[in-house]
Amino acid sequence: MEYDFIVNGAGPSGLCFAALASKNGFRCAIIEKQAKEAIEAPEFDGRDIALTHKSKEILEDLGIWVQFSPDTISTINKAIVNNGKNDGKMTLESNLAPNLAYVVSNHLVRQYAHDIVKNDNNIKIFFDNEIVKIDNRLEFVNVSLNDGTNLNAKVLIAADSRFSTIRKRYGISASMLDFGKTMVVCRIKHEISHEFIANECFGNGYTLALLPLNENVSSAVITMKPNQIDELLAKSDKEFTNWIQERFEKPLGKIELISEKFAYPLVGVYANSFIAPRFATIGDAAVGMHPVTAHGFNFGLLSITTLMNSLIKAKKRNQDIGSAQVLGEYNRKHRLDTLPLYLTTASIVNLYTNDTLPASLARKALINIADKMAPIKALMMNKLVDNGRSFLPKLPFLN
Ligand SMILES: Cc1cc2nc3c(=O)[nH]c(=O)nc-3n(C[C@H](O)[C@H](O)[C@H](O)COP(=O)(O)OP(=O)(O)OC[C@H]3O[C@@H](n4cnc5c(N)ncnc54)[C@H](O)[C@@H]3O)c2cc1C
Repeated sequence: MEYDFIVNGAGPSGLCFAALASKNGFRCAIIEKQAKEAIEAPEFDGRDIALTHKSKEILEDLGIWVQFSPDTISTINKAIVNNGKNDGKMTLESNLAPNLAYVVSNHLVRQYAHDIVKNDNNIKIFFDNEIVKIDNRLEFVNVSLNDGTNLNAKVLIAADSRFSTIRKRYGISASMLDFGKTMVVCRIKHEISHEFIANECFGNGYTLALLPLNENVSSAVITMKPNQIDELLAKSDKEFTNWIQERFEKPLGKIELISEKFAYPLVGVYANSFIAPRFATIGDAAVGMHPVTAHGFNFGLLSITTLMNSLIKAKKRNQDIGSAQVLGEYNRKHRLDTLPLYLTTASIVNLYTNDTLPASLARKALINIADKMAPIKALMMNKLVDNGRSFLPKLPFLN
């Protein structure tokens, strides 16, 4: 067999999967619809992503983390969730580690992951290409690309975003939650330090989060209805930074907008199965999270390690790595790890973007109660710091 895996999509999940597969002696072909230049040197996309300690360990193992210079890694030492500007808050900090999470730029994760795989003899990337035909055989899968290339592998892996076309071809449905909101992300520089505290403010008709970056820079994350976002984007830089300060309890001093603003429509996606015969979905193609709980790529990395554990076990036992048993184990485990938080995130988003008075009162009560419940906060924080998995208890019916 030419390849063990054909990976559709050279995003962060596809590249990290291939890097981990190669480390474990597997061979991969990656198919990417974008041109080589876009993957080799991706541009800043506005996303500064929060990563758990577990995700950092995985990126360290893959040789990706070491490529970040210290000034491009920031930490979240404490997080404060505010209801409105001055209407109750919950503070989260950990007693297990000096910081809750790390923040790095998404485009650098992509670039450094590509740097790891580009000279790997076990990996070949087919840029500017798409899969046009899939032929599932009993012992392997055959795919044809639009440039006429034909490839065989034991398993086809979809890592082609939350709107995965390959997942659809396999007839796998997905539950999609269109939140009817748009998220704008950009960087601001401010005079007064953020003290490495992440702040999330839930106000009437908007949410505003500030993630701390180095040198008094924050990543601003604003969620509103698309027509309101259009109005916000039309503001001058000064009006825009004033808008942020007016909604933020702590004074930031002089604020300057230092990047372009990037808009992302918010759609949550959960594939109704992560597998089919000789097929598995990973990353956003399996679980496309709402960014509010910052779990998207953390879950992506989790999908990769969970799947790889099953594949390595099968290889050691001389089992077929594409068998229903091997892929089924991944499907079960990853659903258990992700579904509770996916569902909870959806409920939180609904509660926190609902502008009615009862919802506002419920938010206030929830934040005040949660802030006083030390065991719940400790559980949330310890899980975040410890292993990056869902902090919710496992639900027996999800087996
Ligand atoms: C505003 C925002 C903030 C976020 N913040 C966080 C955070 O704080 N923490 C966190 O963990 N996550 C965060 N995320 C989520 C994170 O960015 C994603 O989970 C991650 O980028 C998903 O990676 P992926 O490789 O699965 O998919 P993608 O990044 O979508 O990559 C998919 C790749 O597949 C390629 N492709 C698509 N279709 C095809 C096709 N038909 N054929 C071939 N190739 C194809 C694409 O060109 C692309 O290269 C955030 C997301 C957003 C939008």
